[in-house]
Amino acid sequence: MSSKLKLQFGIAVIAAFALGFAVHWVVWARSYAPEISCRMRLEILSGAKDQWAIDTHQTNGVIPSWEQIRPFISPGIFETVQRGPYGGVYKIGAVGQFPTCSIGTASHSL
Ligand SMILES: [Zn+2]
Repeated sequence: MSSKLKLQFGIAVIAAFALGFAVHWVVWARSYAPEISCRMRLEILSGAKDQWAIDTHQTNGVIPSWEQIRPFISPGIFETVQRGPYGGVYKIGAVGQFPTCSIGTASHSL
């Protein structure tokens, strides 16, 4: 094998590895990102509910509506955080409790 061929072979091997990693990463991102995203949505809802409770002097046990916490969530993501990935249904829950996802597993709860 000439040195030029060796170099081309080496480049092909590196390219194949890079492609393999890229495919692996995309598969990983697709399979895990929605679950991480569910917890992040619950975090956003929890923060919005807490801020609503502070701003409007609510006490534990009061359940806000989606419209009541809407001003405390960025307009661009309000629609997104109303539903969980994988079809989870969210309950905002009462002040003093975490919002919940109907799927309820560890990656779907706070
Ligand atoms: Zn969920």
